[in-house]
Amino acid sequence: MSADGLGYSDAKRAAQAAAVQALSDGLGPAAAARATITATDAFFAQVVDALDLKPQVDGLACAAGCAWCCHQIVGITGAEAALLAQAIAALPPERRTILATRTRDAMTRGRGLDQRDWWAARIRCPVLEDNGLCGLHADRPLACRAFNSADADACKRSLLGEAVRTPVLGAQHGIWAHAQAGLAEADGTMAPMALAEVLERILAKA
Ligand code: SF4
Repeated sequence: MSADGLGYSDAKRAAQAAAVQALSDGLGPAAAARATITATDAFFAQVVDALDLKPQVDGLACAAGCAWCCHQIVGITGAEAALLAQAIAALPPERRTILATRTRDAMTRGRGLDQRDWWAARIRCPVLEDNGLCGLHADRPLACRAFNSADADACKRSLLGEAVRTPVLGAQHGIWAHAQAGLAEADGTMAPMALAEVLERILAKA
C-alpha cells in the first residue's frame, strides 16, 4: 500500500489518535474502541478511493451468513473487550445464556490450543449464530473486520483441512491489523487477549 503516500502506519496513527481522543475526553475504553472503528472505516474508504480498490472490494466473496473464517482464535484489546462487555450487557437474558453455553462449549474443546490446533478442531466462535451471522456484528472485534476472502470455497476447503491458499485483499487485512495495534498502544494492551477467554470472564460477571 503506497500510492498517494498512504501507508499502514497512517492507519495505525489514525486509529490511535481517535482512541486517545476518546480516552482523554473521559469517554472510556468502549468509546475508544468505537472511535477506532469509525476512524478506520473512514481510512479504509479513503484507501479504496485512492488506490482504486473498488473492483477488488466488490469481488470479495464475504457475505452475511458465510462464516468459515469464524473458527479461529480472535485476538482483542482491552478496549474491544469493554465494547463487547457493553454489547453483551444490552442483550436479552436468554441470548446471554445461549452465549454463555457456547462459550463454555468452545473453551471446553479449545482451552490451551494454539491458533493452528483451534482451526484444525473447527471450533466455532461462541458469538457465531446458528444461521451463520455474527451475534455481535456491530461491535465485532477489529480482527474480524480484517478477515476477507475472494473465494468462499477456498475458505471452506481450508477449514475442512485442505492446504489451500485463500485469496485476500491485503490492504483490508493490513489496515485493520495496524488499527488494532494503534488501539492497543492507546489503551495499554500489552498483548492481544483471546476473544473466547474474554467472553468467559465477561459472562461470569453478567
Ligand atoms: S466475533 Fe463475529 S465475526 Fe468475529 S469470529 Fe466471532 S462470529 Fe465471526
